[in-house]
Parts: sequence; C-alpha cells; structure tokens
Amino acid sequence: MTDAQPPILDLDDLSRRVIAGERAALGRAITLVESRRADHEALAQQLLLKLLPHAGHAHRLGITGVPGVGKSTTIDTLGGNLTASGHKVAVLAVDPTSQRSGGSILGDKTRMSGLAVDPNAFIRPSPSAGTLGGVARRTRESMIVCEAAGFDVIIVETVGIGQSETAVADMVDFFLVLMLPGAGDELQGIKKGVIEIADMLAVNKADGDNMARATAAVADYRAALQIFVARGALWSPPVIAISGARNQGLDTLWAEIQRHRALFEKSGQLRARRAEQQVKWMWAMLEERMLQRLKDNPQVKTRLPQLESALREGRTTATLAAQEILTLLDA
Ligand code: GDP
Repeated sequence: MTDAQPPILDLDDLSRRVIAGERAALGRAITLVESRRADHEALAQQLLLKLLPHAGHAHRLGITGVPGVGKSTTIDTLGGNLTASGHKVAVLAVDPTSQRSGGSILGDKTRMSGLAVDPNAFIRPSPSAGTLGGVARRTRESMIVCEAAGFDVIIVETVGIGQSETAVADMVDFFLVLMLPGAGDELQGIKKGVIEIADMLAVNKADGDNMARATAAVADYRAALQIFVARGALWSPPVIAISGARNQGLDTLWAEIQRHRALFEKSGQLRARRAEQQVKWMWAMLEERMLQRLKDNPQVKTRLPQLESALREGRTTATLAAQEILTLLDA
C-alpha cells in the first residue's frame, strides 16, 4: 500500500467478537472508541450502534475521592470480592488532566494488583488528556463496549478535579464518594457539590489507630448529609465505614448498592436516570462541539481579538460583541 490508509475494519466481525467476550477484540474496540481520528470516530459510532442492544444490564458504579483516600485499594478489594462471586468487573477512569500517553494513573493496573491478573476483570486507564467532555465521552462509550462484552459491574474512577466528578456521576447509576477518617477539619474541606451528587459516602481506612476518628467522621457526615436529603426522597445516602485494605465493610457497601438498584429499578427511576443522562449528554456534547465550531470559524478568529480589545477599552458592550460574533457565525 502506498497510502497510509486505515486498516479495513470488519465491524460485524469485531462486534461479534466483543459480544463473545474475546479479550483482544474488547481492547481493539476500546482503542477504536478512544481514537481521536475523524475516520475512526465514525467507525466507532457504527460499532457502538451494533453493541448498544447488548449493553445496559450492568451495575454502573462511580467512585471518587482525593488522591490517597484508597480508591485503587478499595476497587481492587471490592472487585476481587465481586469476581469471586461470579461477577465480571471492568474498571475505567476519567482524568482529563492526565498527560501521560496511554492514559492516567487512574485505573492503572499496577495500582490494582489483584484485579490486574484476574481473568474476570478488565482495567483501562483514563483516555489521555483532552477536554473533560472528550475524555468523559470516550469513557462512557468504553463502558458500552465493556457491557456488551459481558461485564456486569463497571467501576468508573475519578479524582476530585474540576467537573470530572459531575461528569462521572452523570454516566453511572450509583456514585460513591470515599472520604478519609477524621471529622471537623475534613468536614470543612468537603465540596458541597460532591456531597449533593453522592449516593453513598464511605469513610475508608477505618482500621487500626484510625477507628475512633473514622467512627466520628461517619457521625459527622451523617449529620451533614441530612441537610441535603429532600423529605420523602426515595433514597437517603448512607454513610458507612470501610477498610479497603482489610476488606472490611465492603459487603455492606455492595449490599447498599444492590438495595439502591432494586429500589430504583422497581420505581422506574433507574430507567429515568439513564434516560435523563442521555439527554444531558447530548447537550453537553452539542455545547462542546458548537463552541469548537465557533472558535474554529475563520471570520470569528480574525475579528475576536479586535472585539476583545474593544471590550477591554470600553468601546463596546459584551452584549454587542456577542451579537456580532453570532452574526459572523451565521454569515
Ligand atoms: P488512591 O490514590 O485513592 O487510589 O489511594 P490508594 O488506594 O493508592 O491508597 C493510598 C494509600 O493508602 C496506600 O498507601 C494504601 O496502602 C493506603 N490505604 C488504602 N486503603 C487503606 C485502608 O483501608 N486502610 C489503611 N490503613 N490504609 C489504606
């Protein structure tokens, strides 16, 4: 071949292999979904359409917490418990700050030594840096691929940076926030926004010398959470103490996730939440793409610096400048 043509992909074959649970096909499909090449993007969308009917049955679990809280330790232990009881667990990640080629340290196999060698687990680090919207989209689509491949528990890991937590909460059924033991000071540090989107708080490292501080933290977080729970709400987020390292409390954690699932399935809210996520997702993508289109527009590009100077020097108003930019876009 003289041209650098993309390899011709037999999407029917690839989707069949993914659905059959072939590991190599799963990796290949996710690589396609993660690719930024326009031709790959189109192929990925076709592939996803084929896989979608086979997806949607999994538990979609999001996990966040500051670096060092014990996310990877907890995911490794919880994941191991789940595969031991017959589940297939995929771990994905959203980290838009990741600069490392091939992804971030989130979802890194070396941090999850048990799951890394578990035949019933699949670990994929975050797609490498890009806009949050772009990174989140690729993770969300990888989730569909994993579900079609038979994974029935998808864990999406993220750190509390920027809006990444909201992005993950918007793609999962259950959003778990891990906290460190210790009340008072820590409590001041919780971002209100994160508490509002949490379906459960787990105080990790509730072991050894940390026990008393963990118990105090649980009581404090319970009190703090009450403020956010609407009267008559279907679900009030539990606060529990766990030790990811010692495998303590993880059975309770999983039982709560299942209780939530049963409740939300029965009431129709699971379906409603997922439907709402789809619509929200479309709008997020539209916003990002429209903005990109605007920024890429040649007329806008030329005029923008002049308009910005005029604004800074008080020669125009923000409203007039915005109007002019929109007119240029329509031209
Ligand atoms: P991550 O950055 O949130 O993924 O946190 P890690 O899972 O890498 O854990 C950070 C550190 O905390 C490591 O040294 C772990 O060994 C330790 N750690 C994690 N979970 C626990 C736990 O349940 N108890 C104790 N005592 N240490 C833990």
